[in-house]
Amino acid sequence: MKKNEEGMTFKGGWNVEYKYAVGPTGTKFFNALKDEGKIIAPKCPKCKLVMLPPRAFCERCFVPADEWVEAGKEGSIQAFTIVPYFFESLPDPPYAIAYVMLDGTNTAMVNFVKNIDLSDPKKAAKKLAIGNRVRIVFEKERKGTINDFHYELI
Ligand SMILES: [Zn+2]
Repeated sequence: MKKNEEGMTFKGGWNVEYKYAVGPTGTKFFNALKDEGKIIAPKCPKCKLVMLPPRAFCERCFVPADEWVEAGKEGSIQAFTIVPYFFESLPDPPYAIAYVMLDGTNTAMVNFVKNIDLSDPKKAAKKLAIGNRVRIVFEKERKGTINDFHYELI
Protein backbone atom coordinates (compact mmCIF):
# COMPACT_ATOMS: atom_id res chain seq x y z
CA MET A 1 0.00 0.00 0.00
CA LYS A 2 1.25 3.45 -0.93
CA LYS A 3 -0.13 6.65 0.56
CA ASN A 4 0.26 9.99 -1.17
CA GLU A 5 -1.62 13.26 -1.62
CA GLU A 6 -3.78 11.84 -4.42
CA GLY A 7 -5.08 9.01 -2.27
CA MET A 8 -4.11 5.48 -1.45
CA THR A 9 -3.41 2.88 -4.09
CA PHE A 10 -3.20 -0.89 -3.87
CA LYS A 11 -1.07 -2.98 -6.13
CA GLY A 12 -3.04 -5.71 -7.83
CA GLY A 13 -3.15 -7.70 -11.01
CA TRP A 14 -5.40 -9.47 -13.46
CA ASN A 15 -4.27 -11.79 -16.18
CA VAL A 16 -7.34 -13.01 -17.97
CA GLU A 17 -7.23 -13.98 -21.62
CA TYR A 18 -10.50 -14.44 -23.46
CA LYS A 19 -12.16 -14.26 -26.84
CA TYR A 20 -15.14 -12.00 -27.24
CA ALA A 21 -17.68 -13.12 -29.86
CA VAL A 22 -18.85 -10.02 -31.72
CA GLY A 23 -21.60 -11.93 -33.55
CA PRO A 24 -22.89 -11.29 -37.08
CA THR A 25 -23.61 -7.58 -36.41
CA GLY A 26 -20.15 -6.87 -35.02
CA THR A 27 -18.53 -8.95 -37.76
CA LYS A 28 -20.27 -6.91 -40.48
CA PHE A 29 -19.26 -3.64 -38.76
CA PHE A 30 -15.59 -4.61 -38.31
CA ASN A 31 -15.28 -6.07 -41.83
CA ALA A 32 -16.54 -2.80 -43.35
CA LEU A 33 -14.15 -0.89 -41.11
CA LYS A 34 -11.17 -3.00 -42.10
CA ASP A 35 -11.85 -3.76 -45.76
CA GLU A 36 -13.64 -0.60 -46.91
CA GLY A 37 -12.52 2.05 -44.41
CA LYS A 38 -16.16 2.79 -43.64
CA ILE A 39 -18.22 3.03 -40.50
CA ILE A 40 -21.58 1.42 -41.10
CA ALA A 41 -24.46 1.32 -38.68
CA PRO A 42 -27.63 -0.75 -38.41
CA LYS A 43 -30.91 1.12 -38.82
CA CYS A 44 -34.20 0.08 -37.27
CA PRO A 45 -36.73 -0.65 -40.05
CA LYS A 46 -39.55 0.56 -37.80
CA CYS A 47 -38.42 3.76 -35.99
CA LYS A 48 -35.34 4.48 -38.19
CA LEU A 49 -32.95 4.70 -35.19
CA VAL A 50 -29.34 4.41 -36.43
CA MET A 51 -27.15 2.79 -33.80
CA LEU A 52 -23.41 2.94 -33.10
CA PRO A 53 -21.81 0.89 -31.73
CA PRO A 54 -23.87 -1.48 -33.87
CA ARG A 55 -26.65 -3.47 -32.24
CA ALA A 56 -28.51 -6.46 -33.67
CA PHE A 57 -31.87 -5.24 -32.36
CA CYS A 58 -33.45 -1.83 -32.01
CA GLU A 59 -33.26 -0.83 -28.36
CA ARG A 60 -36.64 0.92 -28.63
CA CYS A 61 -38.73 -1.39 -30.82
CA PHE A 62 -37.04 -4.75 -30.08
CA VAL A 63 -37.08 -5.69 -33.76
CA PRO A 64 -34.03 -6.86 -35.77
CA ALA A 65 -32.08 -3.88 -37.07
CA ASP A 66 -31.03 -5.34 -40.37
CA GLU A 67 -30.85 -2.29 -42.61
CA TRP A 68 -27.36 -0.74 -42.77
CA VAL A 69 -26.31 2.82 -43.55
CA GLU A 70 -22.92 4.50 -43.74
CA ALA A 71 -22.31 6.93 -40.88
CA GLY A 72 -21.06 10.43 -41.55
CA LYS A 73 -17.32 11.07 -41.36
CA GLU A 74 -17.83 13.82 -38.81
CA GLY A 75 -19.86 14.15 -35.64
CA SER A 76 -20.36 16.01 -32.39
CA ILE A 77 -18.97 15.27 -28.95
CA GLN A 78 -21.60 14.05 -26.48
CA ALA A 79 -19.26 13.36 -23.55
CA PHE A 80 -15.51 13.21 -22.96
CA THR A 81 -12.83 12.57 -20.41
CA ILE A 82 -9.12 13.11 -20.09
CA VAL A 83 -7.44 10.10 -18.51
CA PRO A 84 -4.40 10.94 -16.35
CA TYR A 85 -3.67 7.43 -15.00
CA PHE A 86 -2.14 4.35 -16.52
CA PHE A 87 -4.46 1.45 -17.35
CA GLU A 88 -3.21 -1.88 -18.65
CA SER A 89 -3.66 -2.29 -22.43
CA LEU A 90 -4.32 1.41 -22.93
CA PRO A 91 -1.95 4.16 -24.11
CA ASP A 92 0.39 5.98 -21.78
CA PRO A 93 -1.51 8.80 -20.08
CA PRO A 94 -2.66 11.42 -20.50
CA TYR A 95 -5.09 10.74 -23.33
CA ALA A 96 -8.55 11.93 -24.28
CA ILE A 97 -11.57 9.84 -25.16
CA ALA A 98 -14.95 11.06 -26.33
CA TYR A 99 -18.42 9.74 -27.08
CA VAL A 100 -19.25 11.07 -30.51
CA MET A 101 -22.55 11.01 -32.34
CA LEU A 102 -21.56 10.72 -35.96
CA ASP A 103 -23.71 12.57 -38.48
CA GLY A 104 -26.65 10.45 -39.56
CA THR A 105 -26.64 8.34 -36.37
CA ASN A 106 -28.65 8.56 -33.16
CA THR A 107 -26.28 7.08 -30.56
CA ALA A 108 -22.71 7.86 -29.60
CA MET A 109 -19.59 5.72 -30.00
CA VAL A 110 -16.46 6.13 -27.90
CA ASN A 111 -12.90 6.39 -29.19
CA PHE A 112 -9.68 8.34 -28.67
CA VAL A 113 -9.32 12.00 -29.65
CA LYS A 114 -5.72 12.27 -30.80
CA ASN A 115 -4.98 15.75 -32.10
CA ILE A 116 -5.19 17.60 -28.83
CA ASP A 117 -2.58 19.08 -26.50
CA LEU A 118 -3.35 17.73 -23.03
CA SER A 119 -0.59 19.59 -21.16
CA ASP A 120 -3.20 22.03 -19.82
CA PRO A 121 -6.29 19.92 -18.95
CA LYS A 122 -8.59 22.93 -18.49
CA LYS A 123 -7.73 24.28 -21.94
CA ALA A 124 -8.09 20.80 -23.42
CA ALA A 125 -11.49 20.34 -21.74
CA LYS A 126 -12.77 23.49 -23.46
CA LYS A 127 -11.69 22.09 -26.83
CA LEU A 128 -13.47 18.82 -26.04
CA ALA A 129 -16.69 20.54 -24.96
CA ILE A 130 -20.00 18.84 -25.64
CA GLY A 131 -21.22 19.80 -29.09
CA ASN A 132 -17.77 20.43 -30.53
CA ARG A 133 -17.11 18.78 -33.86
CA VAL A 134 -14.69 15.99 -34.70
CA ARG A 135 -13.82 14.01 -37.79
CA ILE A 136 -12.98 10.34 -38.19
CA VAL A 137 -9.42 9.47 -39.13
CA PHE A 138 -8.86 5.92 -40.36
CA GLU A 139 -5.57 4.16 -39.82
CA LYS A 140 -3.69 3.27 -43.02
CA GLU A 141 -3.31 -0.37 -42.00
CA ARG A 142 -6.55 -1.55 -40.49
CA LYS A 143 -6.92 -4.79 -38.55
CA GLY A 144 -10.66 -4.96 -38.01
CA THR A 145 -10.61 -3.52 -34.48
CA ILE A 146 -11.96 -0.37 -32.89
CA ASN A 147 -8.41 1.03 -33.06
CA ASP A 148 -8.75 1.22 -36.85
CA PHE A 149 -9.96 4.78 -36.41
CA HIS A 150 -9.87 7.66 -33.96
CA TYR A 151 -11.36 11.12 -33.72
CA GLU A 152 -9.69 14.47 -34.38
CA LEU A 153 -11.01 17.89 -33.46
CA ILE A 154 -12.05 19.93 -36.48
ZN1 LIG B 1 -36.79 1.01 -33.60
